[in-house]
Amino acid sequence: MDFKEKMGKLITELNNYNYHYYTLDQPLVSDKEYDALYDQLVALEAETGVKLPDSPTQRVGGEILKGFAPHRHLAPLWSLDKAQNIEQLRTWHDRVVRLVNDYNTKNPGNPLPNPCYALELKFDGLTLNLTYQDGKLVQASTRGNGAVGEGILPQVKTIKSVPLTIPYDEGTIEVQGEGIMNLSVLEKYNQTAAEPLKNARNAAAGALRNLSPKVTAERKLNAYFYNVGYSDGITFADHKEMMDFLRENRLKVNPYIFYFEQFDDVMEQLADIEKRRSELDYLIDGAVVKVTDFRIREALGYTDKFPRWAVAYKFEAEETTTVLQSVTWNV
Ligand code: NAD
Repeated sequence: MDFKEKMGKLITELNNYNYHYYTLDQPLVSDKEYDALYDQLVALEAETGVKLPDSPTQRVGGEILKGFAPHRHLAPLWSLDKAQNIEQLRTWHDRVVRLVNDYNTKNPGNPLPNPCYALELKFDGLTLNLTYQDGKLVQASTRGNGAVGEGILPQVKTIKSVPLTIPYDEGTIEVQGEGIMNLSVLEKYNQTAAEPLKNARNAAAGALRNLSPKVTAERKLNAYFYNVGYSDGITFADHKEMMDFLRENRLKVNPYIFYFEQFDDVMEQLADIEKRRSELDYLIDGAVVKVTDFRIREALGYTDKFPRWAVAYKFEAEETTTVLQSVTWNV
């Protein structure tokens, strides 16, 4: 089989898995199997320099379901670059340092600081984009293809922790987070459900992309927010300031955010998160490392698919529904 044939086969297979995962919320294979095929395609594209237009490496997410009104995001929603191991994570950090140094050589009068990092949990649910206009929640949507998502405001309104109004009332903002189903809630739901749900990620995604908000409400979903994607009246100097803004506006922020000046300390904390992952009452499929300083973020910019200032460190797939005790970490 020549490389084009092999590439075509991988793309067809991956796009079919994407359809079942993103559009139907019913994956055919595990994330591990999907990621292994995806990595084969990335390697083949790098080796040959060929990227076909329908390659999943060139696009974010999946198709928009008919039945939902489309919502054009005010700023794009991105995927995340991935590191499967510590070497890949170090390579990512080395590139950040190199890009910062290149920038500073070109702009000696206004140099960027050394990169510091925020480390967050990578929640395994459905991306949510909330639009607040003058303090009122006016839209909620899925990520969709990154530019346009599905409007799911009535469904999102069933999440009790999502505020319908926020104190910030000076214009329009869009905030991003993840809709999830807590594992303890899933277990309780399954005790009486006619059709038990196997996996919390698909239970949350399927409930949010269901045309009946009654079904969504029955799943008792939760959400954590981690980004202000668009704002027409406020800017932030760094990640901490942005997270404070989310908290002040009563959006639920996960308590486990760690800040580091040294990259080596990130790795140590990552190992701890992976070890203690099963103590959490929600699914995570990794952790996300983000450059904290917003000037550096702007200088590093984006590829077609993800920001260069963040990377997802993926853990081994864990498809458990076991109930866990609450966890206390020092943050
Ligand atoms: P992704 O889900 O790996 O990463 C981007 C997403 O991470 C964002 O959209 C956001 O919703 C989420 N996220 C969670 N916590 C976050 C945080 N703290 N900060 C920022 N973002 C956070 O990217 P993707 O491209 O949508 O999905 C790819 C992954 O989905 C694959 O690696 C694979 O594991 C899985 N997948 C599986 C199948 C399958 O058939 N099993 C098919 C397609 C994709």
